[in-house]
Amino acid sequence: MRLSKMYFRTLREVPNEAEIPSHIWLLRAGMIRKLVSGVYGFMPLGFRSVRKIEEIVRQEMDKKGSQEIHMSAIQPAELWKESGRWFAYGPEMWRLKDRNEREFCLGPTHEEIFTDIVRSEVSSYRQLPLNLYQIQTKYRDEARPRFGLMRSREFVMKDAYSFDRDREGLDKSYNVMYDAYEKIFTRCDLKFRAVEADTGAIGGNASHEFTALSEVGESEVAYCEKCELAATTERAACVDSICHEEELPLEIVLTPGTKTIADVSEYLNLREEQTIKALLFVTYDEKGEFAEYVAAFVRGDRELNMTKLVNALSIPEHAIEFADEVSMSAKTGCVGGFTGPIGLHDCKIVVDSELTKLKNLCAGACKVDHHILNVNYGRDYKGDIVTDIKLIKAGDPCPVCGTPVKIARGIEVGQVFKLGTKYSESMGAYYKDENMEDQLIVMGCYGIGITRTLAAIVEQHHDENGIIWPMSVAPYHVIVTVVKTSDEEQMKVAEKIYNELIDAGVEALIDDRDERAGVKFKDADILGIPLRITVGKKASEGIVEYKMRRDTEKIEMSVNEAIENAINVVKAEIN
Ligand code: ATP
Ligand code: MG
Repeated sequence: MRLSKMYFRTLREVPNEAEIPSHIWLLRAGMIRKLVSGVYGFMPLGFRSVRKIEEIVRQEMDKKGSQEIHMSAIQPAELWKESGRWFAYGPEMWRLKDRNEREFCLGPTHEEIFTDIVRSEVSSYRQLPLNLYQIQTKYRDEARPRFGLMRSREFVMKDAYSFDRDREGLDKSYNVMYDAYEKIFTRCDLKFRAVEADTGAIGGNASHEFTALSEVGESEVAYCEKCELAATTERAACVDSICHEEELPLEIVLTPGTKTIADVSEYLNLREEQTIKALLFVTYDEKGEFAEYVAAFVRGDRELNMTKLVNALSIPEHAIEFADEVSMSAKTGCVGGFTGPIGLHDCKIVVDSELTKLKNLCAGACKVDHHILNVNYGRDYKGDIVTDIKLIKAGDPCPVCGTPVKIARGIEVGQVFKLGTKYSESMGAYYKDENMEDQLIVMGCYGIGITRTLAAIVEQHHDENGIIWPMSVAPYHVIVTVVKTSDEEQMKVAEKIYNELIDAGVEALIDDRDERAGVKFKDADILGIPLRITVGKKASEGIVEYKMRRDTEKIEMSVNEAIENAINVVKAEIN
């Protein structure tokens, strides 16, 4: 492709909306353009890279015997009502009606649709196992679309679904997909970790997230350097600390104006670990109407883990929000800043399991400017639910081996789930076994964010001058830069290199624009083409300059050597 003819425009300035490197560079390289918040279009160079990622995904999925199909992005509400997710999915789902008032959504994911297809067409055990996938546009009306392709409202996903006769079959299918994912992300040149994850709105009973390591990522991973523990912080179990002190008598104390844990611990000269923190919520039912008040209690220095809390309550995340303390107070006796488990009524009390193992804690007294000392679980209060609802933090003991855990940030590029029979049960997907008896199909599902992967690659592969594409996903492999296009000799040599590279199957660009050399070099750096061959003054002697985008070194070599090296490096790195 000739840059003089190519539809592209690099930007000199950092666009206002962009905060993180991948967003900045994809915009500056002219690879993507924003339409509205969270909705992006792909320009020629960007679209080539998207297609390369898709192709890697296709190849690895096909190798595992998964078969590609393509389902509609528009999905009828009935199927989601059957599975129970028309409500559970909440406001992220993009809902619409046709002219006859029939309800639809733009698919945020496709479990229901694939289950529906398979239940109507699979009848015998002989047709199983089966694995189907598609690469398709998904829609999620995200509360906070941001970071460009990272969290967008329209994005490309590869989603695959496996259908097996039993759990053993599912375990195998899951491992096969896990293996494919490792190959895919390795070919995309990502540094990643596969970590245990929560199953969220998708449901099911086991899951792994594939997380590309990056400081700008929204996923937090807890991992242990001694053992194999690696889990999202949403998921990671926490170890409860234990105290064996004698239980002391309750004592109510005056603590004027001490509304926070920090205030009260300072005022009473306690450690934050010796206090109880209250978090107050209201939940809603399927119609969006008030369901109940919830008070959650964790040790004063702990953070509440919302994922664990909604799992404990068996409600979707969008059905809970922080309570308005004034209205809650009238009904339940809570007092803003002074709420404790003693004296609360008419609300569900969820207690972190750790609190049941500690002694003589300080809690709010449900009375303005008062706290209670020596509060003990069992003797003084009880929970309607007692379970682990706390967030793991760096330095906490590893739940497997006790070593202090570390926390890393990352970008979730893929996730695999063992769904089990969640969808086949609710939607009636059966097969007949050898004895002609009906059995539920056992399912798994496997997603990769194609466009988010593109952003994650840029996040890991850039410098202060632009993108540095790995060969496997670069929009083009080589750029031949002509220093002075009015120089016939230079143009002749450049055209020769360009044509020979193309003949050898290398994807080449030629920068034949009538621009200053400095502009061309800058653009080549922003675009991040892995190899640049510069044709300048020494063209008449048959000498050109050879430079990998990732290196600072420029090497002079003969035209033929440059061509040969280029072909070899592309072949070696394309994987
Ligand atoms: P997240 O926790 O980041 O919201 P998710 O767990 O809801 O993601 P899945 O339902 O597992 O996502 O979707 C599969 C994959 O699709 C994710 O691993 C991610 O790579 C991608 N993805 C999900 N939401 C978005 C989005 N808003 N923009 C871009 N890619 C997304
Ligand atoms: Mg996920």
